Amino acid sequence: MSNLNEAGGAGSQKAASENAPVSVISNFIKDIINDDLKSGKHAGIITRFPPEPNGYLHIGHAKSICLNFGLAKEYGGRCHLRFDDTNPCKEDIEYIESIERDVKWLGFDWNEHLYYASDYYDALYEYAVALIKMDKAYVCELTNEEMREYRGTLTEGGKHSPHRDRPVSESLELFERMKKGEFEDGKLVLRAKIDMSSPNINMRDPIIYRIRHTTHHRTGDKWCIYPMYDFTHCVSDAIEKITHSICTLEFEDHRPLYDWFLDVLKTECHPRQIEFARLNLTFTVMSKRKLLELVEKKYVSGWDDPRMPTISGLRRRGYTAEAIRNFCEMIGVAKSNSTVDFAMLEYCVREDLNKKAMRVMGVLKPLKVVITNYPDGQVEELDAQNNPEDESAGTRKIPFSKVIYIERDDFREDPPKQFFRLAPGREVRLKHAYYIKCETAVKDEKGEITELHCTYDPATKGGWSDDGRKVQGTLHWVSAAHALECEVRIYDQLFTKSNPDETASGDYKENLNENSLVKLYPCYVEPGLKSAKIEDRYQFLRQGYFCLDSDSTPDKLIFNRTVSLVDTWAKLEKKIQKK
Ligand code: ATP
Ligand code: MG
Repeated sequence: MSNLNEAGGAGSQKAASENAPVSVISNFIKDIINDDLKSGKHAGIITRFPPEPNGYLHIGHAKSICLNFGLAKEYGGRCHLRFDDTNPCKEDIEYIESIERDVKWLGFDWNEHLYYASDYYDALYEYAVALIKMDKAYVCELTNEEMREYRGTLTEGGKHSPHRDRPVSESLELFERMKKGEFEDGKLVLRAKIDMSSPNINMRDPIIYRIRHTTHHRTGDKWCIYPMYDFTHCVSDAIEKITHSICTLEFEDHRPLYDWFLDVLKTECHPRQIEFARLNLTFTVMSKRKLLELVEKKYVSGWDDPRMPTISGLRRRGYTAEAIRNFCEMIGVAKSNSTVDFAMLEYCVREDLNKKAMRVMGVLKPLKVVITNYPDGQVEELDAQNNPEDESAGTRKIPFSKVIYIERDDFREDPPKQFFRLAPGREVRLKHAYYIKCETAVKDEKGEITELHCTYDPATKGGWSDDGRKVQGTLHWVSAAHALECEVRIYDQLFTKSNPDETASGDYKENLNENSLVKLYPCYVEPGLKSAKIEDRYQFLRQGYFCLDSDSTPDKLIFNRTVSLVDTWAKLEKKIQKK
């Protein structure tokens, strides 16, 4: 990679160099970049990630972040973080901070290249004045409704606004008065003068500036006119000398407008807009409007609720940045929209956690077991391996004593055929400990099993028998006197339908899953977890991957189940490969 970094001078328009960085694993975006580097159009690349600070980032944004920052890294260029803060009504400093935190957490760095579209308000205003002077923009007095009427339809061209041909001097004067705050919201707008009969509606004299008497979080009350996205975006890209402006497919129809502004304004730099398909995931909504609604109406506990597809939600759930980056790499970039199976994301999380997570034992639905022949008051410290996938993770000691908890589901009074766990008269292995045999099940007056009485075989220490006696089941357990009591939160998909927008009423909330969160209490985990820190991740043997939740306190530990061990996607893949 080092030769890539030497390309230097990202964005400068040098002649083709012999050692221009060329990516090996390609996609259509890299093909374009490779061509631009080979032809000498650019000596290096500059990309940007331009979030609007009106919500938290989600997994779809992660795709765009991995793409933009990833390309910059691969080609030794750079990627800017630019807040597209042109709508003062919906924006918030909390969102800005969360976005910076999430991009960093994902493993990317903009270094000193942090920008705000609002940094360019003066320049944008000058560019707008220049458009008016070229007779390429005019102040229009039509109401919103009238403008809609004049715009025409997909099949019919639009009509000229009665103000379209007003003298340049009049538009200049009105625009200045708009800026000075002489008009109320919505009274006047500045529009580009392009083509009302264009088949592309975006080209039918789009609005470039509107009046909004609102305080902006960065520029305060300096402005009461704000530039529209289409105008702001291309000009910001040009000012920052972006080489490749990568955006999602819905902007394809906006590209002629992007190019029109930069052509007419003759900006020194004219970035190339490239569109790719946005990420859609099953069982998930990704519109920020909907995510905001879920938060505001308290269907979830907040933007970082572990059921949310937000980066902060996934992080709190226990997903790793590496798993998310691998997922984005795996799904790749394409030119047509599709929906990715959520199971694929979970597959990436399991793959990563399998390598990293320490194995521990935790009992979620406890059943007390008394080992009747184990000496009263005796405690043994047994050796347990931390991660069979990683020798260097070492071993730890876990306490064993007369009373333990096992999983209630691991015992059946009348075991069905394929049930290889504990039952009356049956022997099983306690992981890392001993063989135990169930003698009796103790019941209360209602006939519910309250505890089991078992015996252990002292000759099977470590969970192995010298006489070659085999057992079919291995159970996890914790020592009752030593275990830590905790709460465990089990999550399911937030929606019951693969496509949450599929409803009779048109309201996606109809498909919310009432059982998406189940809280289990009390659960018991081995004592070593006392030192767990927020977001520390573990595999609870046979139960899945878990992490310590941020609601935890020293007095009450709370674990989130990140993902179960059952891997539906891997199974699916095997089936597909067989076909
Ligand atoms: P909204 O939902 O409010 O329309 P948005 O999802 O487009 O907004 P932005 O903050 O404007 O949110 O997005 C920043 C960048 O992330 C844009 O370049 C956008 O194209 C990209 N992006 C947003 N959603 C996805 C997605 N699902 N897949 C890939 N990229 C996305
Ligand atoms: Mg957007």
